[in-house]
Amino acid sequence: MTLAPWLKIGTPDQQKLRDMLGLLASLNVNTICTSAKCPNAGECFAQGTATFLILGPNCTRNCRFCAVNHGRLAEPDPLEPAKVAQAVQILDLKYVVITSVTRDDLPDYGAGQFAAVIREIKALHEDTLVEVLIPDLTGEEKALALIVQARPDVLGHNLETVPRLYAKVRPQASYRQSLRVLKAVKEMKPGMLTKSSLMLGLGETEGELREVFQDLKEVDCDILTLGQYLQPTPQQLPVERYVTPEEFSYYREIALSLGIREVYAGPLVRSSYHAREVFRTLTDV
Ligand code: SF4
Ligand code: SF4
Repeated sequence: MTLAPWLKIGTPDQQKLRDMLGLLASLNVNTICTSAKCPNAGECFAQGTATFLILGPNCTRNCRFCAVNHGRLAEPDPLEPAKVAQAVQILDLKYVVITSVTRDDLPDYGAGQFAAVIREIKALHEDTLVEVLIPDLTGEEKALALIVQARPDVLGHNLETVPRLYAKVRPQASYRQSLRVLKAVKEMKPGMLTKSSLMLGLGETEGELREVFQDLKEVDCDILTLGQYLQPTPQQLPVERYVTPEEFSYYREIALSLGIREVYAGPLVRSSYHAREVFRTLTDV
């Protein structure tokens, strides 16, 4: 399918892009920006920001929309929290997003490493705000509690798509389990901001989206992002259709009217895109 005109982005500053890639390589940290072939990498890297990918580059699941690798799984690197905190310091980030592959092979599903990374960043940079985007941890609440207790400023978990499309898009995940993760965070710590994200253009209907928005409201999710699904490589699912910028605005209004506090929607929006600005709309930080 020919790319919709509103998805064509300008060429990023190649020098800044190279500098950032070189810096990230020298720091020995992974980012989801490159691993998932995010279309915003040029813009985000030029602004000196990135989303760190912890727990290795290889995932135990195989979501049909995602270009992350599936190779050998290593034990969590005990030096990773310090490495990420050092990268935050060198990049002088005041707001950082941390995510991971899914690690169903680990006894705590990687929750302990998330907690260690959050604590290490906060120990080195008291004022840096930390947003985490976590996997479902197979719904294991003890593991989730490890992350909540480390007190991230925002805890995100993505629903990604409507329940009817889970078998096709996220075959190893469960819509209800993902909703329960968001609900459990609020039960453990009611004041913690929660966030979720959906990709549009995979065949979902307006009625299905309305139901998902309602479900998110019922679990008291604070922030929702909506973006266009883009096929990262020919191995992933094709795009069913391009959603226009006007439709994104329309869906944003619906979600807000149903009570979600902040909705950031647009063709190139990803859960970590402009995360600091989105956070600021709900806080006075
Ligand atoms: Fe990275 Fe998020 Fe920016 Fe994409 S939107 S390049 S994942 S920080
Ligand atoms: Fe990609 Fe996350 Fe799915 Fe793994 S669980 S394949 S990292 S979307």
